[in-house]
Amino acid sequence: MPANIIDGKRLAQEIRDEIGRGVKALETQTGVCPGLAVVLVGEDPASTVYVKNKKKACEAAGLYVADHHLSAKMSQTELLQLIQQLNGDHKVHGILVQLPLPAHVESHVILNAVSPDKDADGFHPYNVGRLVEGAPVFVPCTPKGIIRMIESTGEPVAGKRAVVVGRSNIVGKPVATLLLHQHATVTICHSRTRDLPALCREADILVAAIGKSRFIKGDMVKDGAIVIDVGINRLDDGRLVGDVDFDQVRERAGWISPVPGGVGPMTIAMLLANTLEGARRTAR
Ligand code: NDP
Repeated sequence: MPANIIDGKRLAQEIRDEIGRGVKALETQTGVCPGLAVVLVGEDPASTVYVKNKKKACEAAGLYVADHHLSAKMSQTELLQLIQQLNGDHKVHGILVQLPLPAHVESHVILNAVSPDKDADGFHPYNVGRLVEGAPVFVPCTPKGIIRMIESTGEPVAGKRAVVVGRSNIVGKPVATLLLHQHATVTICHSRTRDLPALCREADILVAAIGKSRFIKGDMVKDGAIVIDVGINRLDDGRLVGDVDFDQVRERAGWISPVPGGVGPMTIAMLLANTLEGARRTAR
């Protein structure tokens, strides 16, 4: 029987509706309207689309958006000054710096300058440390969305074998950490892992965050596994596909998330959730 689909688009809409209600309630009770500052540097086409979608989702949920679109030629010092200004802006509860930044800007310097209290992406070292410690403040959006998707299956995580393919700071490592906190037995794989297919076949939960089209094949998946596809890859004909060979894997898996319509919409929903949580903490 083909796998059940984890419909990230539908789940994200439910969460965004819930956030919309939370925004209204917070405003009514405290007068605080949650605000997200969106910083885009340059004209990268993919980043421009991501930022547009994030702003649209914020506005639909009633959040205030402070939009900062800067020239790719701006200096690192100017960008740092903007971040300092946003750190002190009481209308802003979350700051999103869209990556990648231009080559002349050191991304880690910029991300480290964002106040940990407004770090809606959860990339600041303080928030990374809190996450590892098991007492997170801001959880990075994509990993947080992935956990919500796994929870939506109703399958318990504790005791399961989880394999995360990819060890980036923004997806692989934090999602592995979150799964560990939920008592999964976690293996993190990467480009130097030996016999990746055999490790993947052991997974009750398989998360693919690699950036290679349809890399995970049907024979790499255990029968009944939960498979979360994080990858976003554009084919030559313009179509978007994930890191998982959807047609093959859906014949083996118990649950599978599609691309598009899977992790992507959940990432945006979690950005809104983090901004609302930031605003609630301020209003306390
Ligand atoms: P990175 O390029 O930072 O990391 C990719 C990881 O995959 C690395 O750890 C790399 O290993 C590993 N890898 C590459 N090739 C292989 C291989 N042959 N076998 C095993 N592991 C391999 O990517 P990100 O984590 O930033 O993103 C991953 C994918 O997810 C991309 O397609 C990206 O577009 C997408 N993405 C989607 C988001 C969403 O909202 N849906 C959000 C963020 C990302 P090594 O470390 O050894 O190099």
